[in-house]
Amino acid sequence: MRLSSAFLKTMKEVPKEAQVVSHQLMFRAGMIQKLASGIYNYLPMALRSLRKIEAIIREELEKKGCQEVLMPVVQPAELWKESGRWEYYGAELLRFKDRKESDFCLGPTHEEVITDMVRKNLKSYKQLPWNLYQIQSKFRDEIRPRFGLMRGREFIMKDAYSFDESVEKSLENYQLMFDAYTEIFNRCGLKFKAVDAATGAIGGDKSHEFQVLADSGEDGILSCSHCGYAANEEKAAVKKVEYNLDSAEFAPMEEVHTPGRKSIEEVSDFLDKEPRELIKSMIYTIDEKPALILVPGNKEVNETKIQSFFNANIVALANDETVEKITGADLGFAGPIGLKEKIYIAADYRVDGIMNMICGANRSDYHLTGVNIGRDFKPDVYGDFIHAYAEDDCPVCEAGTLEEHRGIEVGQVFYLGTKYSEAMNCNFLDRNGKQTPAVMGCYGIGVGRTLAAAIEQNHDEAGIIWPMAIAPYEVVIMPLQLKDENVTDTADTLYKEFLEAGIDAAIDDRNERPGFKFNDADLIGYPVQIIIGSKTLAEGMVEIKIRATGEKMKINVAEVQEWIVDFKAEALK
Ligand code: ATP
Ligand code: MG
Repeated sequence: MRLSSAFLKTMKEVPKEAQVVSHQLMFRAGMIQKLASGIYNYLPMALRSLRKIEAIIREELEKKGCQEVLMPVVQPAELWKESGRWEYYGAELLRFKDRKESDFCLGPTHEEVITDMVRKNLKSYKQLPWNLYQIQSKFRDEIRPRFGLMRGREFIMKDAYSFDESVEKSLENYQLMFDAYTEIFNRCGLKFKAVDAATGAIGGDKSHEFQVLADSGEDGILSCSHCGYAANEEKAAVKKVEYNLDSAEFAPMEEVHTPGRKSIEEVSDFLDKEPRELIKSMIYTIDEKPALILVPGNKEVNETKIQSFFNANIVALANDETVEKITGADLGFAGPIGLKEKIYIAADYRVDGIMNMICGANRSDYHLTGVNIGRDFKPDVYGDFIHAYAEDDCPVCEAGTLEEHRGIEVGQVFYLGTKYSEAMNCNFLDRNGKQTPAVMGCYGIGVGRTLAAAIEQNHDEAGIIWPMAIAPYEVVIMPLQLKDENVTDTADTLYKEFLEAGIDAAIDDRNERPGFKFNDADLIGYPVQIIIGSKTLAEGMVEIKIRATGEKMKINVAEVQEWIVDFKAEALK
């Protein structure tokens, strides 16, 4: 690329809304341009990098036997009604009508369309396994689009879907994809962690996220200081404790007057007790059914865990009216004993170990003390319903504690089971001649977000520092004195040689001052700069600057091509 005719404008200033470094640098380096909130034009520099990431993705997926398809962005509502997601996907799904008043949406993900596509072709187990992928624009009407390509409304995603004859085979496919993702993000030159994850609106019951480690990341990750355990904080398990209450003494249950004391803090202060002796009783609606969730007073309820535990679509705190009706009391006095309506009671495991606990009395201004499970009430079910935090004991090993990191989720793999194939009749004739739903997995990578994450991880004051594999150009040649024919001829010759040797080169032949070119080269972040100046060239030399280390060296013109070929090969190892 000759920069003299490039569609490129670099900038010193950044718009106020660009809060994170990757957004600022992508804007300043002339890579993206905003069209509307969360919707961007990809300019040539960005698209080159995106295409390189896509090429890596394609190579690694094809190695695992995946086949590429391309599905439409516009999707008919009927398919979403079949899966049930038309009702509960919420406002992120951009819905509209065509001229015949039929409902459509812009695809935020493609489980419905692919399941429909596959059911029209699938007859027998003999055709399987299938793993189909596409790289395509998605639309999600995000409530807070921000951080440029990191959280856009329209964004490029690679999505893949696997179809297998059995759970076992599907889990093998899951592992293949896990391995492919590891390879992909390694090749992109990123430092990342694969962590246990919740499944959210996609569903299913096993999932990992690939998180690029960066302080600006929106996700919290907890990982063990000792073993390999790592999980998104939404999902991170909390160590189970064994209690031995046999020898303990149960106090009598008593109702105590706690006027106006509602929160855990107010009640524990008033009664001079520790928050951990109290029980937090929260009424939730889980897919519209109310349930009482009990957790220790010093812990936080984790709604994501409730959603997974109940395999629910929507989990929300019950409204005031519902709470007052169920408890027969003002807000703040709910508890498991004496509810006016029988509702499901789910307790966190750790509630089981609290003796003589304190909870709301389902009567305004009263709490109960000396409450004991077994004697006074029994939950319908126990589960893990609380948030994990840094410094908690590792839930897996004996030795470690949890540490917190920030991460950017660049990819996620899900084992789906038969959630969509059953709802949408995607069946095949199995080995015993029986119609069986296909076992599915789905796998996403945010291509634009990967690009942004690469910049978050690789930059300095001056600009971007591209990993070689995904740099828009691998090297820039900078002739400094355009009036010196020796300089321009050498630059042109090197440029041609580089291209012939398979080096992705740009030449900065703009009529600009050297300082301007240096700044731009640092900002855009080419891994290597070849600087050609009259003086050095008179000695038969050019100068090389390596962007990542700032290292500079002089090298004989005749040796430059071989040097760059070796340097690139080494960087891609
Ligand atoms: P998030 O939790 O960040 O909203 P998600 O879990 O909803 O993302 P998935 O459904 O797992 O996203 O989508 C697969 C991948 O697509 C994500 O891992 C992420 O890299 C990318 N992605 C999701 N939403 C966006 C977005 N708004 N902008 C850019 N990339 C996105
Ligand atoms: Mg995700």
